[in-house]
Amino acid sequence: MNPIAKLDNQYVWHPFTQMRDWLQREPIVLVEGQGAVVRDVHGREYLDANSSIWTNLHGHRHGKIDAAIRAQLRSVAHTSALGLANQPASRLAEQLIKLANSPFVGEPGVSGLASSNQGTCVNPVLSKVFFSDDGSTAMEVALKLAYEFTRRTRTTSLGKRPQKVGPMRHRKGRDSVHRLLQSGPKFLSLDGAYHGDTIGAVSLGHIDLFHRSYADLLFGTDKVMAPYCYRCPYNRAKPQHADARTYRKCRWECLDQLEHKFKVQKKRGSPYAAFIFEPLIQGAAGMIPQPEGWLGQAAQIARSHGALLIADEVMTGFGRTGTATVAKSGSGVFACHHEHVQPDFLAVAKGLTGGYMPMAATLTTQRVFNAFLGEYKEFKTFFHGHSFTGNQLGAAAALASLEILQSSASIKSRHLLQAALRRELNELWCHPIVGDIRQVGLIVGIELVKNWRTREPFHLHEQAGMRVCEAMARAGVLTRPIGNVIVLMPPYCTSPDQVCQIGATLNKALAGVA
Ligand code: PMP
Repeated sequence: MNPIAKLDNQYVWHPFTQMRDWLQREPIVLVEGQGAVVRDVHGREYLDANSSIWTNLHGHRHGKIDAAIRAQLRSVAHTSALGLANQPASRLAEQLIKLANSPFVGEPGVSGLASSNQGTCVNPVLSKVFFSDDGSTAMEVALKLAYEFTRRTRTTSLGKRPQKVGPMRHRKGRDSVHRLLQSGPKFLSLDGAYHGDTIGAVSLGHIDLFHRSYADLLFGTDKVMAPYCYRCPYNRAKPQHADARTYRKCRWECLDQLEHKFKVQKKRGSPYAAFIFEPLIQGAAGMIPQPEGWLGQAAQIARSHGALLIADEVMTGFGRTGTATVAKSGSGVFACHHEHVQPDFLAVAKGLTGGYMPMAATLTTQRVFNAFLGEYKEFKTFFHGHSFTGNQLGAAAALASLEILQSSASIKSRHLLQAALRRELNELWCHPIVGDIRQVGLIVGIELVKNWRTREPFHLHEQAGMRVCEAMARAGVLTRPIGNVIVLMPPYCTSPDQVCQIGATLNKALAGVA
């Protein structure tokens, strides 16, 4: 066994991995990358067909990002954001705010980015950026801000005294904090939701396999059915060789259920503080795409009940959901904008730095920001932060990545990649174990089933997805399944020939497993 593989086996515990299985074979040890290709310690090359767990945007060792990091290293790698500012993080915040508002410029209340944004408007202006480290922390920040914003503003609007924050409350100890969580603002998220692995993010999640064991550690949130057309109980259509969204027969019952949830919660006297969603497609749930129009309508329902919107764009952000509606959505940077939805909180991570460094951001409104302003002694401060908040190297990489993303060359290559993927996917319907093929821009999920005519699923313990991916890896294409769903999400620089290679490899692997 390679000496690095030996070290790994001896010391490293891998995420989301049954380590007993892991220890039975020699792991692939990656040492190099260039564009869409990575190379292992033996010199074998692989196509990175899931962009290193959905993070890499423009390919490995991109000249511009490499150069930006080197240039930043000549100044300084990291300084604290606690009490100090820095140049790349400040410039990155400006860029993110510009990008996030660009599809709405010219709309009422969105003419100037510094708008005060008071009151509940349909498309709020995002004007503040809170940096953190990864997708989970970006969502944790959104959750804590939404919770505290609602607690402060709702109690005052009902004419009650806002609950005291700061040292007084802390002295009362954990019990009172716990009671506050039980009775505090309530959150609604989607069935199958995954928003990260920190405790707040897990509380928002609804994947039993990952989350059930920690139930006692979590605070309760409600879930509502997700628009999973392929397995929707309201979809009366028989299976076809097409994306289930395109042939579904339903009356948008999923939206009725959403409306119902909001109404019931309002009757209970504590309307939901926020509705949390992954826009256009849920990732870890199994690449579950929303039918066109769902997001816009769902956002409208939530808003009409006074809920804040928290969009988790950790996977979908930075062009992943394609260029189909670029004109409307401002170069297609954020998924929400494809349906002209602007949330109150926009969480980004993974692709923020082009997939180079762990960095994340939560964008929010002036209105939320204002609720945390006050005299020092009022202790309205947002008591949250991380050692690497606003990391200078990460911000420099992100600035370079955003520049590449907005170039016409990148938009063109995303467009070509999207079309190439669509062509390759058409070839896969011939396999009887392919039940549904779902593509949202540059994100693909292929759901494997025992029988496509009945949609009968494979048992998880049969590891159908894993077996297909292992066969692909042996043939030089790397990706990781979600249960029985094969994921394809290549970097934007992947060429049409490389897409053909991915398609052919998957084709063979499917035949082998079937
Ligand atoms: N939200 C979504 C939608 C994600 O896909 C992920 C990660 N897969 C996360 C949050 C958590 O991100 P991280 O792994 O960077 O903490």
